[in-house]
Amino acid sequence: MARNLKVTVDKSVCMGNQACIMNAPGAFRLDEGGLSEVADLDAATEEQILDAAFECPVAAISVVDADTGEDLAARL
Ligand code: SF4
Repeated sequence: MARNLKVTVDKSVCMGNQACIMNAPGAFRLDEGGLSEVADLDAATEEQILDAAFECPVAAISVVDADTGEDLAARL
C-alpha cells in the first residue's frame, strides 16, 4: 500500500455478497457469521481496496487515510 489506510467494515449493514473479496482478494474475508471483515490490507493494492469500497452495494466499507484523516471512499 502506498498510503497508510484505516479500513473498517460496518457489519450492521453488510449483506455478505462477497463483492469486496472479489475486488480486493486477501484484504477482506467473511467471518463465521458470513459478514465481511478486514483480513490483510497488505494483500491488496489501494486501488483494489477503494474499488471494494465503491462497489459495496450498501456502502459498508470505510477507507480513511490514517495520517491525514481524509475519507478516501466518500460518496457524493
Ligand atoms: S461488498 Fe459490502 S455487503 Fe458485500 S460482503 Fe463486502 S462489505 Fe459486505
